[in-house]
Amino acid sequence: MARLIEELRRLPGIGTKSAQRLAFHVLRSPGEDAERLAEAIRQIKKHLRLCSVCNNITDVDPCSYCTNAVRNQRLICVVEEPTSIATVDRTRSFNGVFHVLHGTLSPIGGVGPEQLRIANLLTRVAEADEVILATSPTTEGEATAGYIAAEIRRMQAPVKVTRIATGVPAGSDIEYVDEVTMTRAMEGRREF
Ligand code: ZN
Repeated sequence: MARLIEELRRLPGIGTKSAQRLAFHVLRSPGEDAERLAEAIRQIKKHLRLCSVCNNITDVDPCSYCTNAVRNQRLICVVEEPTSIATVDRTRSFNGVFHVLHGTLSPIGGVGPEQLRIANLLTRVAEADEVILATSPTTEGEATAGYIAAEIRRMQAPVKVTRIATGVPAGSDIEYVDEVTMTRAMEGRREF
């Protein structure tokens, strides 16, 4: 029991109390439920990985976006989570590729630049014409966009850095933005 609680406690957002509650839930549930959960965890690690180029979740590396010749590989849209890719992709006004940060800078949450996938973004910049910063218009999202823009500028690469327009309501999470709003945000992007 202690071992399961300890493992659960290592998951993000799970404190000791939640870990205990989850562990007791598993203990009380039917064996096949616990087996399904364990199997799902095993399978995701076995078959899925992060793309070594863009950090998207994929079963082949590089992912289908990074190897797609129809997409503009010199236009990179930076998003927080893999789930944001679908939001941007649905707009159809974007035909570039992506870069997933896997989070935003959060001094309170203990997330610094080293915890995000920023280093391998900077290696892609030299091969790009434009980097669109599509992080959420939240405090953390803005701070992250600002940090990345400064890092790119420091490299003095001849690349345009843009930020999506504020058509996306301030404080909202990109993931939940509708298609029309996202299209407007993408088309109205301006130099950052
Ligand atoms: Zn990729």
